[in-house]
Amino acid sequence: MNIADSEVVAAILAKEGFTPVSTVSEAGLVLMNTCAVRENAEKRIWNKLENLKGIKRKQGDIKIGILGCMAQHVGNKFKDSGAVDLVAGPDSYRHLPELLEKISKHEFVSDLELSRTETYENILPQRVESSQINGFVSITRGCNNFCSYCIVPYTRGRERSRNPEDILNEVRDLYNTGHYEITLLGQNVNSYRWNDEQQAMDFPDLLRKVAETFASMRIRFTTSHPKDISDKLIETMATVPNICNHIHLPVQSGSNAVLKAMNRKYTREWYLDRAAKIRELIPDCGLSTDIFSGFPGETEADHQQSLELMKMVGYDSAFMFKYSERPGTMAAAKLKDDVPEDVKTRRLNELIALQNELSTASNNRDIGKEFEILIEGRSKRSDKEMFGRTCQNKMVIVPDRGFNPGDKLKVEISNCTSATLFGKEISS
Ligand code: SAH
Ligand code: SF4
Repeated sequence: MNIADSEVVAAILAKEGFTPVSTVSEAGLVLMNTCAVRENAEKRIWNKLENLKGIKRKQGDIKIGILGCMAQHVGNKFKDSGAVDLVAGPDSYRHLPELLEKISKHEFVSDLELSRTETYENILPQRVESSQINGFVSITRGCNNFCSYCIVPYTRGRERSRNPEDILNEVRDLYNTGHYEITLLGQNVNSYRWNDEQQAMDFPDLLRKVAETFASMRIRFTTSHPKDISDKLIETMATVPNICNHIHLPVQSGSNAVLKAMNRKYTREWYLDRAAKIRELIPDCGLSTDIFSGFPGETEADHQQSLELMKMVGYDSAFMFKYSERPGTMAAAKLKDDVPEDVKTRRLNELIALQNELSTASNNRDIGKEFEILIEGRSKRSDKEMFGRTCQNKMVIVPDRGFNPGDKLKVEISNCTSATLFGKEISS
């Protein structure tokens, strides 16, 4: 999401005559687009800022701006750091030209107004960060779900869906600039809704429209909130061939008591039913998740339920975290962060160890099977190998036979680790 936002910022600044450079020493302006989801993400930015402070002292004429969720969250307190000239939240990027004008006159400025309508309509993102293979397109901004642990609704504001024409224009631009794969982005893509005189669309309609209009591209999406994942979406994925068979479906916990306290609005049974429906209609669908340990009040039995649910679903991969209390959220206000740090860490390590086993088992099941992969680049281990991804979002390493990024190959899998498949091209 931050890559997509940085590309909106790049487009706004390009109009003002700014050009990107590759090192800080060449820059007159450094903008950091930030995340505030966990405390660690914020710590990293404070450390980077210390670094930049040193550079600013030496270079003198460099300006530093903080954008995104941490800008929204920390706000004017950045002024005290002595290094920051500009703070702008996720809905303030259209004002950057005026804000930059002000800081050029040595003023600290901030713009932290959240909007109910800003979707950056008519701004075609300038591709500076994303790969030449996969492009990201935001379809919604903000979030209305208010999961009790999560800072996103406070830093990115209320949920807004973007005009389908704008979305299609962005995909077209990515197609014309040689991209092969599109990821549609939103905090909860399933709640996408668009209504105007011409059309009414929900997420499956939009997904179908994008996939059918750009039938040679692979289409992915993230993130799906389990409470909103509909049969219509799963059926659409099952019937439109270029929609990748992979769903990232964050469960967060396997315990009903914890899910309720998290305000996730689904139960373990609902989640398992959705996973079963996915497997029924799309048997080869990749499934991944987010899950975290140590939410307030999480007991050993709750934790065991998380482990058990992970086994029942048999995830291909997972992002796993420790609970991090975020100031301003419902959990921070109402619930005591009462799981000791060493218990959070031990439980997280158990989640990670189990997921390693599940990923290895999932990859082992692919040995001997055939997949189509999209080549993304040269393997880091050897310049005689290339890597690509299956529709299920698994990484495959193949011996290079003069392939180029963007090539689609049919491969047979011969070996694996927990993170990677190894295969070779087979003739189709
Ligand atoms: N909109 C997405 C997730 C956005 S944040 C969704 O609902 O699934 C990405 C992930 O960070 C979340 O899925 C959750 O697992 C994790 N996360 C969010 N807030 C957290 C917190 N306070 N502590 C630990 N992990 C958190
Ligand atoms: Fe946060 Fe929940 Fe919204 Fe995801 S759905 S961004 S976890 S509030």
